Amino acid sequence: MNIDLHTHSNHSDGTLTPGELLTRAAAAGIEVLALTDHDTVAGVEEAQRSAVVHGLRLVPGVEISASWRSQAIHVLGLWIDPTSPALCKELHTQGERRRERMRKICSRLGKLGLPGSELLAAVAALPGLPTRAHLADALVAGGHVGRADEAFRKYLGAGKPAHFAAEWPSLEVVVGWIRAAGGVASLAHPARYSLSAGARRQMLGSFVAAGGAALEVVSGGNGAQHVDAVATLAVNYGLMGSVGSDFHNPQLTWNPLGRSLKLPDCVTPVWRSYIP
Ligand code: AMP
Ligand code: MN
Ligand code: MN
Ligand code: MN
Repeated sequence: MNIDLHTHSNHSDGTLTPGELLTRAAAAGIEVLALTDHDTVAGVEEAQRSAVVHGLRLVPGVEISASWRSQAIHVLGLWIDPTSPALCKELHTQGERRRERMRKICSRLGKLGLPGSELLAAVAALPGLPTRAHLADALVAGGHVGRADEAFRKYLGAGKPAHFAAEWPSLEVVVGWIRAAGGVASLAHPARYSLSAGARRQMLGSFVAAGGAALEVVSGGNGAQHVDAVATLAVNYGLMGSVGSDFHNPQLTWNPLGRSLKLPDCVTPVWRSYIP
């Protein structure tokens, strides 16, 4: 099964429209694709229409920003009902949090001598819900940094001068939203958080207690050694496994759609009860 359960469109910080994303996924031989934009389901309807045209199975999804002990954690909601009024209401609030955070970050950039209002206007003019990735691109476009990762290292990353910690809802609350919308909660890229091994165990314990169902065992360009370590965590915590590229942009050639996303045999696939 060629499956990719973590991708972005231009409704968040991806560069392709949902239609373009599905066209690309079909060309790459993907059979099942989840669209998981940051804190929005705005692209799901277009993706669904395009999936029908291409004969792909579309998993309605979202990647929700949550917090656990002041660390931002991303939770994938898979097979959610994108029309759920309760979920849409909460995602609307998440959008407001994102816009407010962007204003705060840009104001900090202004205090650092950068054109904060111009950068804010540039991000606000883009189609997607604002993320730091958009702002990093605007900093590159304005010639303030050479590359997006430099923007994170210099200004936007945790502990950097323009960082502003968003007040995301707790991990438990976000898992609750996903379950109430009929979805399955999968913890995205578990190795990317700056947590000690002990804190990560506690975080996973909270995730399981809240009703979290899966761990993203295969994520983006992670190596085999890493995959095995996360697979062991999934088994130890009784979690199923999901796989996802976290695709954003065809220009980032190291992170293509659907490549090397084989789940180790010891882990139960999160799609088992959905896909015959
Ligand atoms: P946000 O959700 O607004 O905090 O933005 C996070 C997004 O920025 C992630 O989903 C990535 O797409 C992107 N990102 C995070 N860290 C980096 C980095 N060091 N270099 C480039 N992009 C990054
Ligand atoms: Mn992103
Ligand atoms: Mn993420
Ligand atoms: Mn993502």
